[in-house]
Amino acid sequence: AKLDGRGTHRFFEPEMDARMQARRKLELDMRQALARREFQLHYQPQLQRQSGALSGCEALIRWYHPERGLVSPLDFIPLAEEIGLIVPIGEWVIRQACRDAMTWPGHMSVAVNVSPAQFKSDRLVETIISALASSGLPARRLEVEITEGVLLQENERTLQTLHRLRELGVRVSMDDFGTGYSSLSYLRSFPFDKIKIDRSFVKDLTSKPDGEAIIRAIAGLGKSLGTTTVAEGVETSEQMQRIRLEGCTDVQGYLISKPVPNDEILTLVSRARIP
Ligand code: C2E
Ligand code: CA
Ligand code: CA
Ligand code: CA
Repeated sequence: AKLDGRGTHRFFEPEMDARMQARRKLELDMRQALARREFQLHYQPQLQRQSGALSGCEALIRWYHPERGLVSPLDFIPLAEEIGLIVPIGEWVIRQACRDAMTWPGHMSVAVNVSPAQFKSDRLVETIISALASSGLPARRLEVEITEGVLLQENERTLQTLHRLRELGVRVSMDDFGTGYSSLSYLRSFPFDKIKIDRSFVKDLTSKPDGEAIIRAIAGLGKSLGTTTVAEGVETSEQMQRIRLEGCTDVQGYLISKPVPNDEILTLVSRARIP
């Protein structure tokens, strides 16, 4: 403990203090990152199995920190979410993604991740309308990916927002499907355009006995509902082989491509083929 200016004691534990300071620094840096143009979007393609063509790409944010180098979204999105900074950051993501998608062939869509705090902000629908208008991207080429976190406090407003997006023509995807507690019940509350099967199930395909059971069930469910099913995190041709058997309509993963800067997308488009 030490005396501060007013003569009262201030107690602190050195380790905690260091962690708090690191967090505060990250927060300060993040507040300036937008203005300093330190964020970039990378795009990871999704392949439609039947046609062998790329159906679209998912936008994934990258932060190039001046001192720390590349910071993973897993290390700053949760903090951005907590302090509300995800709203302006997410707005930038939507605008940039719409602009970039305009440089792709007209059949390709762009998917953006929308976190719970961003989804709940009043600005989401307005932001999307404005981003579509100023980029010229048709609404049907924009996809919004939400996770169970968005639906957790499912209420009238959540559903209203989903329906407003749908009325605009924007598509809505359920991300990380199968990892939450009530994934199935959410499919009942809203007609999602796409179900993204979490990477952990793809891993199980070749590493667990009966590892295909869940993917097979979700692919079948998608088929009955008329919903696209994307297998996430496909890394090997063996996994690809198994996914073909189970009937997912689309695949995404390192086997097709890692996320890349926008100027590499057109090269990927011209080379797309079923591995
Ligand atoms: P996500 O939405 O589930 O995105 C998929 C993550 O899996 C990405 O990690 C991607 O690079 C990685 N991935 C793709 N294929 C493979 C594969 O074959 N193998 C392996 N091991 N990994 C693969 P990334 O880019 O680090 O993003 C992590 C998470 O951060 C995302 O998970 C998403 O939840 C969040 N995120 C990323 N960008 C944004 C954003 O713009 N806004 C928001 N709100 N969240 C974002
Ligand atoms: Ca996602
Ligand atoms: Ca995912
Ligand atoms: Ca995830």
